[in-house]
Amino acid sequence: MGALPIAEFVSSASSASDSDRSAASDEDCLVDDGDGDLVADSRLVSSVRALLQGLGEDLSRNGLIKTPSRVANAFLSATKGYGLSAEQTIGGALFAEAGPGNGKGGGCGGMVVVRNIELFSTCESCLLPFKLCCHIAYIPSEQRVVGLSKLPRVAEIFAARLQSPDRLANEIGGALWDGFKPLGVAVVGETWHLECPRELRSSREPASWIRRSVCARKGSFEDDDRGSEDWQEFVAMLQLSGSSQLSVTKKPAICPLLAGDAAAERSSSSHPNFETMVEAVVTLLRALGEDPTREELKLTPSRYVRWLLASTHGSRLSRDLILGNGVAAVEQDGDHHATMVAVLDLPFCSQCEHHLLPFSGVAHVGVLPAKNHPSSHPRASRAILEKIVKLYSCRLQVQERLTRQIADAVMSSTAASGVMVVVEAGHVCMISRGVKKTGSTTGTLATMGDFAVHGKKRAEFLQMIATANSSK
Ligand SMILES: [Zn+2]
Ligand SMILES: [Zn+2]
Repeated sequence: MGALPIAEFVSSASSASDSDRSAASDEDCLVDDGDGDLVADSRLVSSVRALLQGLGEDLSRNGLIKTPSRVANAFLSATKGYGLSAEQTIGGALFAEAGPGNGKGGGCGGMVVVRNIELFSTCESCLLPFKLCCHIAYIPSEQRVVGLSKLPRVAEIFAARLQSPDRLANEIGGALWDGFKPLGVAVVGETWHLECPRELRSSREPASWIRRSVCARKGSFEDDDRGSEDWQEFVAMLQLSGSSQLSVTKKPAICPLLAGDAAAERSSSSHPNFETMVEAVVTLLRALGEDPTREELKLTPSRYVRWLLASTHGSRLSRDLILGNGVAAVEQDGDHHATMVAVLDLPFCSQCEHHLLPFSGVAHVGVLPAKNHPSSHPRASRAILEKIVKLYSCRLQVQERLTRQIADAVMSSTAASGVMVVVEAGHVCMISRGVKKTGSTTGTLATMGDFAVHGKKRAEFLQMIATANSSK
């Protein structure tokens, strides 16, 4: 799998209805219940409806009924920071604290560091979420210290806007610098942006996260002739907690969808609903209070639509075209184990149909030989299983249905008497919104034929997965 499993992420996503946005106080907890019953500006909801219709979805389908309001709500949540004031947040929490008679410390000099503030933000280039784990340091001056909880609170305010990682770090640092005039402020962040579905680029890598470090330095943390002692001490303070291996380097922008702009310009999307969907995203940005003509946002609608189309293209493919009509008579290249073929770790990236956010992971497929071909080995090549997994994952899905559909398709496409499918996945929506189950992953299991009735076979297959996982 990729650099960092989705499930390692934490969220600080936020929520608010449009009407209470301006009234939000700094005591608002940036938390979203994610159930979609709140909300919303009708322009937002109808924009999401237009996107789903553009994808060819049936909006009356059970799983999609609440999706427009839920997704609209999520976009509001992700941009709640526009209605919150960092100045107010800081201003109400300044305290006088004496410094030492001789030296630095307390409210005069010394250093205050808050580490490992974990946040989710939204990439302004593509509207996908990115994660930030940031560390903030400041040097108090003139006996002013700020309530410690206000540092993450200020970070949350700027994360709950459309952002790039660099700007996010700069805005957090700038707000603290302006807010209580310390001698110096530094913000360091590790950011992770969701990788593109593989159709958007040529690589065969599964979905993963792109990692990059950013920093913002002000006042005494800025480089001087001696390289800023404050900065060096901040880095040392981070290393004390083992919280960061700092590797702040100047790299190109983190958003992987930027890389597809040139190709998209050359080929422009052939999808008949592309322009309508782009218009829907433009409307959505306006409804969020954004200016879609702002330079950084000009191509965002088309990137978001490209991502939506690419990550759901399986729903527009013919199953027969992909899998053929008959039984797949293909050579075995799975791991042969007694009478069972197990093909493990088939990577996928799918889209949660409730939140329009990705879930990704691996599918494991176990196949038992057909009873009427007792002498033959069961046949299930990795290639055909990859096709099946891709066909059913590249669409709006729920993990339970994905697992069942893979099992169904394998059963009907191979000479098998039993099929068992285990899907292990991390859901962005589980960690960035709603229940916010940090570190959780989801496993689902489907069995057909002999697997459904023989517990021993199921245990054998699960053991094979466990053994393979433990050797990674
Ligand atoms: Zn992006
Ligand atoms: Zn979801």
